[in-house]
Amino acid sequence: MVNQMRINYLHHSHKNYPHVVKFSGGRSSAMMLLALAENNQFDVSRGDVIIFNNTSAEHSKTYEFVVKCKKFIEEEYRIPFFIIEFQTYEDAWLGRWRRAPTYRMVKPYPYKKYKKRKSYGYRHQGEVFQEFVSWKAQLPTRFTRTCTEHLKLNTSTRFLEDWFGRCGGRSTPRYLPELSRKFANPRLGHYYPESQMPKPSSYAGRSEKVRYHLEQSSYRDAQMYTHYTDAPLVDFENEVIKDYVYDFKANLRGDEPLKFISLVGLRFDEPIRVTRTLARNNTAEAKGRLADGEFVYAPLFDSELTKEDVLSFWKRQEFDLEIPHNVNLSNCVFCFMKGAGAIQKLASEFSHGAGPGNIQWWADFESKYANRVQSRENKQRVSFFGFFGSNALTYKKLAQNLENSVKENSSGFLPCECTD
Ligand code: SF4
Repeated sequence: MVNQMRINYLHHSHKNYPHVVKFSGGRSSAMMLLALAENNQFDVSRGDVIIFNNTSAEHSKTYEFVVKCKKFIEEEYRIPFFIIEFQTYEDAWLGRWRRAPTYRMVKPYPYKKYKKRKSYGYRHQGEVFQEFVSWKAQLPTRFTRTCTEHLKLNTSTRFLEDWFGRCGGRSTPRYLPELSRKFANPRLGHYYPESQMPKPSSYAGRSEKVRYHLEQSSYRDAQMYTHYTDAPLVDFENEVIKDYVYDFKANLRGDEPLKFISLVGLRFDEPIRVTRTLARNNTAEAKGRLADGEFVYAPLFDSELTKEDVLSFWKRQEFDLEIPHNVNLSNCVFCFMKGAGAIQKLASEFSHGAGPGNIQWWADFESKYANRVQSRENKQRVSFFGFFGSNALTYKKLAQNLENSVKENSSGFLPCECTD
């Protein structure tokens, strides 16, 4: 079955659209990628690309696996695979300074803070997650999953606007004198030596919440694609893309968007996830998406491949994800969407280190960024808005009750479906 895995196109024209693999870092997604590559389903001259959105809160073994898959796919199949992250930069807008969201490409090794030089590795200690929450000055919750929206969906879309924009001509923009946009994304942000943003103290009650993102770099460097992939950078001349590129930016939204295929690693035994993802992201089925020309395909589902098939596939490979297959450590390790019972189980068996791999990090983070609102009628009453909603369960409570499972009914929790 794996040897014959093909993409079952809804329409023959879809074959010409560039293909984007939204790599989640899990076994299913990786198997889909490897099987499609093995079956020659990619074509780099079409604009095909693989992206992994780093939230900086994934398990350390997930990062190792992502790096191995990236190396393998770039060396064996010469397909570019980028690890990208959300970041903000200072930008003047309507006469005021603000921190605007963008993305950066990162290298396949962990980020380290040096005194005198920059590190270009991926963040893995919650830094990206924290920059996002500090920028919003608000926690995502299980009712408003703003982290999925900003760290994954929007970040992918921004990267793809530039990636497909490479198709946009040969002129050299003024802000990149020595480089062409075909080979690099542009520098973003001002050139002042100091931040132009108001000081954290001017945000009154929110000063400690906004501080972290205000302390980040005011700009994003221009980035050469070839610094972030070992696959050769092929100049794609895809007619399907060209008409949608203006000034090196592809138009992915609106009535006349660029059309592309995105491939997600959802399996045959996950029909509800497939239905939800198609309903949310697929241009054929849903209106009002972030990328309006996106056609989502789930080749594992179409090939009727289940979890057993995925596990047996990885038994035959030279490397594997070094996380037991029966525990849910995918995506952000202690994601609030996983449910109280699952979080506690993970915490009691797998909590480790000082970062997001430890439930205590989530408890401290929630305590720092939760909003507390005093009741008007009764000043003694303060409502707490955490990851789980107002005056609901907290990570502190979960961490304190590891031996006794929490009393709250966790049946209302949704499975973590942070699919791009
Ligand atoms: S895995 Fe959970 S916490 Fe992480 S981005 Fe997705 S919804 Fe948010």
